[in-house]
Amino acid sequence: VDLRGEIQKTFEVPIKNGDGRKAIQLVYRIVDQLIKEEWKSLMGIGVGAPGLIDTRAGVVVNAVNLDWQDLPLAHLLEERYQLPVRILNDSQATAIGEFVYGEHDSDGNLIVINISHGIGAGILINGRLFQGDGGSAGEIGHILVRENGQLCRCGRKGCLETLASGWAVLQSMQRLPGLSEVTTLEELQTKFYADDPLVKEIILEAGRSLGTTIGGLAGTLNIKKIVLTGDMTRFGEPWREAVREAMSGAALGRMVQETQLEIGKLGYRACILGSAAYLLLNDYSLLFQQEN
Ligand SMILES: [Zn+2]
Repeated sequence: VDLRGEIQKTFEVPIKNGDGRKAIQLVYRIVDQLIKEEWKSLMGIGVGAPGLIDTRAGVVVNAVNLDWQDLPLAHLLEERYQLPVRILNDSQATAIGEFVYGEHDSDGNLIVINISHGIGAGILINGRLFQGDGGSAGEIGHILVRENGQLCRCGRKGCLETLASGWAVLQSMQRLPGLSEVTTLEELQTKFYADDPLVKEIILEAGRSLGTTIGGLAGTLNIKKIVLTGDMTRFGEPWREAVREAMSGAALGRMVQETQLEIGKLGYRACILGSAAYLLLNDYSLLFQQEN
């Protein structure tokens, strides 16, 4: 990413679940590929990683999908590449990306909710990322929403992710006779737009579960601009409307009436842009400057 916030080059590798050591090798491969190109004046490496991240220490505390626990990723990358490294939770990075480059006309406060395989949020207050005392503010995917619900990948039951994520809706398909052949969100999207009633109900119900939690956030923080991003936004306006309706019913009318719920336009690019922006912002103050 250059200083204008334009992505210059991307490189993708598929990830197979659950082998932490292989996952770190993949990270090296990605950075090696990007660095061996013509870039001479690299200013640093910004990383958006899933899971619980200690940004200050540069440590991935826990990333279930990648099997990373207490991994000092920033230190490893700094040693290997001799560049400054900043690591953020991917949803927090996405929020910064949307805030800086998403044209949301926010006056400093913004909530960005990433609904993909999992669910996470990033919260900006007065133009700064709010990380909370432990660094994990916005980790809404594992808030309990249904007592004794489905088993979540975090090991607990009934988390928001088990009801509203891309993973959750695909799991629901597996339990339905006649729909168990549906294994990807693309296939689900086709059925959704072909007005398959069962599929529609599952997607809209997922939206409503999400909306109730968002209502709680809006009712707590009174932040008027909320951006939805991630894989589930493929279900478009009907899904957004289900989220909005449930949100409206979950907090004081006056507080949510004025809340604008938008679908972000940057997609996965928001995470890349936000990871880069956070590095520039913190190490070089090259982006939006805020007084303390
Ligand atoms: Zn969970």
